[in-house]
Amino acid sequence: MAAKEDFYKLLDVERNASDAEIKKAYRRLAMKYHPDRNKDNPEAAEKKFKQFKEAYEVLSDPKKRAAYDQFGHAGVDPSMGGAGGFGGGFTGAEGFSEIFGDVFGDIFGGGRSRGGPQRGADLRYNIEITLEEAVGGTEQKIRIPVLVVCSECSGTGAKKGSVPIICPTCHGHGQVRMQQGFFSVQQTCPTCRGTGKQIKDPCAKCHGQGRVQESKTLSAKIPAGVDTGDRIRLTGEGEAGERGAPPGDLYIEIRVKEHEIFTRDGANLYCEVPISFVTACLGDEIEVPTLDGKVMLKIPPETQTGKTFRLRGKGVKPVRGGPVGDMMCKVSIETPINLTKEQKALVQKLGESLTGGGKHHSPQEHSFLDGVREFFDKLTG
Ligand SMILES: [Zn+2]
Ligand SMILES: [Zn+2]
Repeated sequence: MAAKEDFYKLLDVERNASDAEIKKAYRRLAMKYHPDRNKDNPEAAEKKFKQFKEAYEVLSDPKKRAAYDQFGHAGVDPSMGGAGGFGGGFTGAEGFSEIFGDVFGDIFGGGRSRGGPQRGADLRYNIEITLEEAVGGTEQKIRIPVLVVCSECSGTGAKKGSVPIICPTCHGHGQVRMQQGFFSVQQTCPTCRGTGKQIKDPCAKCHGQGRVQESKTLSAKIPAGVDTGDRIRLTGEGEAGERGAPPGDLYIEIRVKEHEIFTRDGANLYCEVPISFVTACLGDEIEVPTLDGKVMLKIPPETQTGKTFRLRGKGVKPVRGGPVGDMMCKVSIETPINLTKEQKALVQKLGESLTGGGKHHSPQEHSFLDGVREFFDKLTG
């Protein structure tokens, strides 16, 4: 007997891979080596498939995996006569169709719904709106390409005046059992692709699909308070379903453009407000912008640069409810420029008076210098 390949290597996963990772690796390989996809050499693909399945059966079972980790193949393969064997090994055909359904159900579509026309696909539409629109709500016209019900055949896919017949391959079940080597496999009917019906005389407009591609214009209401990443669902506005099945939904995904003044974080808005050196010294009331007009903000005397003032309730009302946020105004103090000779002299005079009086006037510099002094004292002391 040829030496078996390591199960982890076989599935191309790490030894500490999670159950989900192992399942994912198995699904990927199972799809690749599915006999239907390897028609030129189905025997080789089937052999590979059996190896993956065996590895998956062991690694997906915590008991068997532990035995395998400890004893290797001898731990799980009864044919090797291992003491710690759990028996079982490759279980043959029954287990296959069960796993098959699990692995292939979603790619063949019909697997889970047991045939029948498919619901239309969901569509996603990305939309960019301004901050004002996001905060206040808006209505946007959007144009989307969609598959709609064919007007010629009303979605049946059959030529006008004719009706689809029961599929002769699956007798209307939409599913067939196929013999693949020694596997017996439940599969979506290849003749009718799961619908259970066959169209003898297809509609010329939609070629039997029951749907045609068109573009439609929709008016999408964007509620107030949305933010980047929010999605709005328009039920039934996605693609039309196959042959009369229900349509999918349309998801509108929001992206809010950058604003030149405000930035947003959740319900709060932030902005930076420049104030003059004089306003900062003596205090004043200044106008600041909000999304619904200007408001007055009181700047107290001796305001330091970087100080943030909170304007309650001037933020955003979140779309999912909750309190309205605040507007945070961060002031930055501007150093005067283009000074005349006289102005420079005045500043000079002010500077002298600020250093003369025995009081400290620069809170940050004062504590900074204290810190520097302490630092040097420690070094030399
Ligand atoms: Zn048609
Ligand atoms: Zn059929």
